Amino acid sequence: MTILAGHREQQPTICAICARQAESLAYSPSGDLRKAIWICAPCTPLARKTYAMTDKTLNEYESRAIFAAAKSVAPSLIEAVLTELWDRNIDSLSAITPEIITAISETPSLAIKDAIGSALATYGATMREEIGNDNPPF
Ligand SMILES: [Zn+2]
Repeated sequence: MTILAGHREQQPTICAICARQAESLAYSPSGDLRKAIWICAPCTPLARKTYAMTDKTLNEYESRAIFAAAKSVAPSLIEAVLTELWDRNIDSLSAITPEIITAISETPSLAIKDAIGSALATYGATMREEIGNDNPPF
């Protein structure tokens, strides 16, 4: 396995496995940084396996991780959005306007941000778990 450590991109890169910031680690079997995938430290043991996956297989793992993330936070996210609406004296779906949706979107509450953060964490953990356990992606 060739881990290229200490490399820096001008723009932050995300981990090819869990979608967190990739730090300065890359994996490339040939050692060619142009053909590398960027990874974070916790995902380093999964780099070779992920690099060798077809796009279809990686897409299946990602779809499963997205589903797990959405399922895990849907209740708290729905509750957070309903609380936002309630706090704005919106108690009927017909009273929701595009302006209200924009206002909530532009200044999301802490509860909404926490739900999104939890979804991202669940996505990454699911990717590491599913790939690490060789769970069949389909
Ligand atoms: Zn990672």
